[in-house]
Amino acid sequence: MEKEEKINSLDVALRQVDKAVAHLDLDPGIIAKIKSTRRQLTVNFPVKMDDGSIKIFTGYRIQHNTTRGPAKGGIRYHPDVNLDEMKALAMWMTWKCAVVNIPFGGAKGGVECDPKSMSSREIENMTRRYVYEIAMMIGPDRDIPAPDVHTNPQVMAWIMDTYNTLKGYSVPGVVTGKPLELGGSIGRLEATGKGVFIIAQEAAKHLNMPIEGARVVIQGCGNVGGTAAQYFDRAGAKIIGISDYDGGIYNPNGLNVPEALSCRNQYSCFITHKGPGWDEITNRELLELDCDILIPAAIENQLTHANAPRVRAKMIVEGANGPTTPEADEIFNDRGIFIAPDILANAGGVTVSYFEWVQNLQELIWNEEEISERLTRIMRKSFSDILAISQKEKADMRTAALMLGIGRVAQATKLLGIYP
Ligand code: NAD
Repeated sequence: MEKEEKINSLDVALRQVDKAVAHLDLDPGIIAKIKSTRRQLTVNFPVKMDDGSIKIFTGYRIQHNTTRGPAKGGIRYHPDVNLDEMKALAMWMTWKCAVVNIPFGGAKGGVECDPKSMSSREIENMTRRYVYEIAMMIGPDRDIPAPDVHTNPQVMAWIMDTYNTLKGYSVPGVVTGKPLELGGSIGRLEATGKGVFIIAQEAAKHLNMPIEGARVVIQGCGNVGGTAAQYFDRAGAKIIGISDYDGGIYNPNGLNVPEALSCRNQYSCFITHKGPGWDEITNRELLELDCDILIPAAIENQLTHANAPRVRAKMIVEGANGPTTPEADEIFNDRGIFIAPDILANAGGVTVSYFEWVQNLQELIWNEEEISERLTRIMRKSFSDILAISQKEKADMRTAALMLGIGRVAQATKLLGIYP
């Protein structure tokens, strides 16, 4: 995809905090504490590759804040992984867990690598050695990883097995997003995309916009984007554009979603196999398509001052973490484009991860109805809480969400006090 200027995600996350705390009456010392990263571990470790060579990888595990509970956050495998990105993603996890009011702090981890050029065996070797290197930080009472970009239930299984091996017994609660056979939760795989859909439904109700017939554009077709596409499709919306790393496909009359997704899964991208009734489109063009609902569901900093004036969506529902820069936020707010921010819109994943962790600790298995009902209730309540703050404080939805999340973390910090 076309690269614009390099944007530092940590800088974006801190500027968002500054904007939200201006509405809150907080002690400057508490603000300084919640802006700082509690723990950061950088590891450089060797992996034996298939050709017999040894390659050194750099990985991270960051715990931004553990005031409200154990740290929680995904593990990302991507060439752009770096310390500041990890710190930003960990901070967003802290606010997200507080927004949906689950008892976790925020964490993130990742390895700088290109998983698309690695074999499954190399990814397994890298995962196991990375987990060995960060094992002192993780655990069901300390810090619980989960899937993120280019990691999946199989990677979570390798994480669990490596941790089990180090401990000498089985610890299913060390990781969420596991396969069902290993203590994973029903509904976790689709939870983030489903949560995006639930929040879009709530936002659409608020804007008096029917989901049926709405024209939807989705950037990213992985766990989050691909699942969201299926929910919108089943609800009668028209997915007119969807993309992957290499570009996307477009049909103004609506794509055949099952066909597009199965083609993408078979060929690993859309554009090597051109399907019937779709045109190729770049990621940049996709974001600027005339549509009702735009769902960035890939990576950070996709909507910036450079393209925000040309975005034609009526509503943006952030499946990805940090897809919108503060400059783009200002432009969207001025233009009256409704934004359901990441720390609300994609919180379905960590919510069902919380359900998975609770089931693991209690050795229970909840059924699909229980999971779906609890997830829907939490997502709807979080939306209405944030909308009420936004209306009362005359703040945009992101600032309102941050006020809710930061306010809860600040209150918990005050109650715990500062040691010693
Ligand atoms: P994934 O690996 O399953 O899919 C990522 C998608 O983004 C793929 O389609 C990939 O091709 C695309 N992509 C990667 N780099 C890109 C680039 N430079 N330009 C355009 N597209 C690119 O990952 P995912 O789990 O679906 O995560 C997507 C986003 O959602 C991330 O921001 C992640 O942090 C966020 N998120 C994920 C979860 C979860 O449960 N998986 C939960 C909350 C938030």
